[in-house]
Amino acid sequence: MKRIEIRTTERDEFVDITPLVREEVRRAGAEDGLCLVYCPHTTAGLTINEHADPAVAADILAALDRLIPGDGPWTHLEGNSPAHVKASLLGASVQIPIVDGDLALGTWQGVFLCEFDGPRTRTVWLRFLA
Ligand code: ZN
Repeated sequence: MKRIEIRTTERDEFVDITPLVREEVRRAGAEDGLCLVYCPHTTAGLTINEHADPAVAADILAALDRLIPGDGPWTHLEGNSPAHVKASLLGASVQIPIVDGDLALGTWQGVFLCEFDGPRTRTVWLRFLA
């Protein structure tokens, strides 16, 4: 398992971690297999979507805000239930095929760490499966 730490800077934010994941695939010498990317947090998640136009990530964040209003009603006393709900909707892991030593992402696809209760330091685990 390889551990990556990411410092987020906003309350809600998509951080493009594609270059970091690619670099670790290269460093691991993985030729063909699967890259498991896992986020061990309850108020952050992972997703794969377009990273060519940053407006897409902004639109997803705005849509999540419309779907999950900050003023609830919520019962969780910590006050960050919207972040928990958003993290659950997006999920805690993504899996990407590795082909010929590189991530088999589509032309416009990138891997995002999705922060919903930042800023914080977040951990992402990578596992390469042959
Ligand atoms: Zn909480």
